[in-house]
Amino acid sequence: MNVPLLDLKAQYKTIKEEILDATLEVYESQRFILGPKVEELEEKIAEYTGVRYAVGVSSGTDALLVSLMAGDIGKGDLVITTPYTFFATVGSIERIGAIPLLVDIDPRTYNIDTELLEEKISSMHEEELSRLKAIIPVHLFGQCANMEKILEIANSRGIIIIEDAAQAIGSEYRFKDGSVKRAGSMSKFGCFSFFPSKNLGSFGDGGMVTTDDKDAYQKISIMRVHGSRPKYYHKVVGGNFRLDSLQAAILLVKLNYLDKWTEKRRANARTYRDLFAKLDLEEVELPFEGDGRHIYNQFVVKVSNERDDLKNFLADHGIGSEIYYPVPLHMQECFKHLNYKPEDCPVSLDASVKTLALPIYSELSFEQIEHVVDTINSFYRG
Ligand SMILES: *Cc1c(COP(=O)(O)O)cnc(C)c1O
Repeated sequence: MNVPLLDLKAQYKTIKEEILDATLEVYESQRFILGPKVEELEEKIAEYTGVRYAVGVSSGTDALLVSLMAGDIGKGDLVITTPYTFFATVGSIERIGAIPLLVDIDPRTYNIDTELLEEKISSMHEEELSRLKAIIPVHLFGQCANMEKILEIANSRGIIIIEDAAQAIGSEYRFKDGSVKRAGSMSKFGCFSFFPSKNLGSFGDGGMVTTDDKDAYQKISIMRVHGSRPKYYHKVVGGNFRLDSLQAAILLVKLNYLDKWTEKRRANARTYRDLFAKLDLEEVELPFEGDGRHIYNQFVVKVSNERDDLKNFLADHGIGSEIYYPVPLHMQECFKHLNYKPEDCPVSLDASVKTLALPIYSELSFEQIEHVVDTINSFYRG
């Protein structure tokens, strides 16, 4: 039996006619850049996320970049995030000339460890603190970071928060007072990606910035078109961060199915848990799920040091899996100048050798999930 890590064709098959109709409309209009489809998508994503404004941009990476630019963060400023994330989180901090400060992750959620965050900030002297401009919590694998604590730390010091919600559209965080908020709605900027493998994926690159702040919204809208307003008059330098009409038209179709697909991913996660529970395999640590809504962009297990052998064994049995991420960012060659030692972020380092993402996409059948679990069982017990 074949179980790919992700099967985009299976999803496409279920909505093909609608997608073709929606894209045909764009072909007929011959309007490809921004336009009414992008505006409609912005309104719908703002509503879905629970914010006032959304700006369609060219990718999740550009969503981060333009948010940092609109937050007036630049040369010599300090920005805190984690080393256990997709490259773009830290890459965009570097690209605007700021200095990434990498704080290790919580071993259960893989999100920023807020005790270490607090320790880090408390240990900074005044001059450093004055340059600390932003924190970028990453809602990794589809589960929100500990926002209650992060908001408390940031708000008391006037530090802005930019949520990297690239893997977390529709993910929810429950505050102590019982209120619930969605990823991308809890801070100044929420950054989303529509890369095809995200839960809401386009047919190419795309992204979105969400915000409740009208000034920030206007700034991002201007930055998106080279800082131009009115046309050909530039008060600031922006970039080409625009979203295409075709992508917006496709995303508008897919957005109608997003909650159904997310619930299927969550159900698949429960199926994994039920099947693993029967085996009592102590070598496999299942993903921690807090009391918010985990949207399972990835279902990541932590296994022993034989992780790479397991990955190969799964491949031999027709099962796709992936390592997110094999090299934590504090160990990347391009960040050598930041002078991190491997042991500076031991939890990230440990995760990089022990974690493995298993297939979790919506169209998986029970038999496919069973095959994955049985194969893992035979790797350890066979
Ligand atoms: C995918 C991703 C990004 C970048 O999004 P792109 O659309 O690929 O540029 C940023 N951060 C995280 C955590 C991601 O998973």
